[in-house]
Amino acid sequence: MSHHPDIDTPLVDRFDAFLFDLDGVVYIGPDPVAHAAEAMSAIRAAGRSCVFVTNNANRPAGAVAAHLGEIGIPAAPDEVVTSPQAAVSLLPGHVADGAAVLVVGGEGIDEALVAGGYRPVRDRTQDPAAVVQGYSPDVSWRELAMAAYAVADGLPWIATNLDRTIPTPDGIAPGNGTLVAAVAAAVGREPDVVAGKPAPPLLRAAISRVDATAPLMVGDRLDTDIAAGPRAGVPTMLVLTGVTTLGDLLAAGPDERPDFVAADLRAVLEPYPTVHTEATPAGLVVRLGTLTVSAADGEISVDGSAAPAHVAHAVAIACWHAADAGRGPDLARAVQVLVDAAPELAGRAGNVIPARMEAGDARRPA
Ligand SMILES: [Mg+2]
Repeated sequence: MSHHPDIDTPLVDRFDAFLFDLDGVVYIGPDPVAHAAEAMSAIRAAGRSCVFVTNNANRPAGAVAAHLGEIGIPAAPDEVVTSPQAAVSLLPGHVADGAAVLVVGGEGIDEALVAGGYRPVRDRTQDPAAVVQGYSPDVSWRELAMAAYAVADGLPWIATNLDRTIPTPDGIAPGNGTLVAAVAAAVGREPDVVAGKPAPPLLRAAISRVDATAPLMVGDRLDTDIAAGPRAGVPTMLVLTGVTTLGDLLAAGPDERPDFVAADLRAVLEPYPTVHTEATPAGLVVRLGTLTVSAADGEISVDGSAAPAHVAHAVAIACWHAADAGRGPDLARAVQVLVDAAPELAGRAGNVIPARMEAGDARRPA
C-alpha cells in the first residue's frame, strides 16, 4: 500500500463527475479536440458522470447535445447544462412559481423557462415578474429598451453570463456582457445575479444535475472556467488545447490558478503527481514527482523531468509565488525556461505578454 494513494490513483478515480467547458476543450468550432472522444468514453466506462457546461445562452441543451453527437461525442440533452438553465434555477428566490419572465435573448432561454415551469414573455404588457437577459444574434434595441424599462421598474434582473465578446469567423463581436452593459448604462445599475461562469450558479446547477460529491471542472480559460472553481468550491483542471497560452498560465492571478494542468483530456485517465512546495529565503522550491522547480529572487530554474503539462504546472506555481511575493518573475524568461525544459509545449508559448482577452467562452457563431 502506498502512503500517498493520490499519486498512483488516476484522476478519473479521484472524482465522480467531470464538468467540461465546450469550446477549446471538447471541440474547436466544427472539429473535435484531439483525444476528447476517447477520454469521454473512458470516463463513462469508469462509471463517472460527464456534464457539459456552457455560457452560451442561445443554443438549447438539446442542440448542444446534437452537435456533440455529430462530432463523435455522444451526449444526452440532460448532460448539458446551459447558462439559461442556471439562470432559471435562480428564479425561485426572486419570483413566484409559474411567473411570467421577460426574455431578452434566444430560444435557449425560452426553453429553460418553460422546463422550469415559468412563462416566457417578450413584452412588458404581459406582466413579467423578472428579466432574464442572454445573448442571441437577434437581440434588438427594442428588446434592450424593454429590459431597461422593466429593470427601472424594479424587476429582478438575471444575466445568463457576462462574456463581453464572442469570437466569430469575421472577428471579435459583442457578447452578452456588452449587451447587458448597454442596459446597465441606461438604468444605472448592474444585474442582480449572473448565472454563467465565472459566477457559481452554472457549476452548481451541473453538480446538482448529477448529484456529484467530488466534481472536477475542466476548462481552457482562466478568467471563466478556472475562476469559477474556487467560487463554486470545485477543483479545476486547465487543458492547454484552447485559448490559454503558457504566458497566460504563468501570469495567472490568485483567483485564476488551476489545481491541475493537462496537455489534453487523456490526463484525466492518468495519475497526477502530488505537488510539494517549500519556501526558501529567496523564493520557493516546487517538487512534483521527480521534477524540481526553483524560484530564487524571481529567477526560475528547472531540474529533472516530468510530463510537459506537469512541468508547466510546477513552473507556474513557482511564478505565482514569486509574483505574490513581489519578486517578479520576468515572464518572458520564465516561458523560455519552461519551453527549454518541455519543448513539446513550444507551440503553446503564445505571447509573453498575457493575452487577457476579454473574450468570453469561445463558441460557434450562432
Ligand atoms: Mg472554452
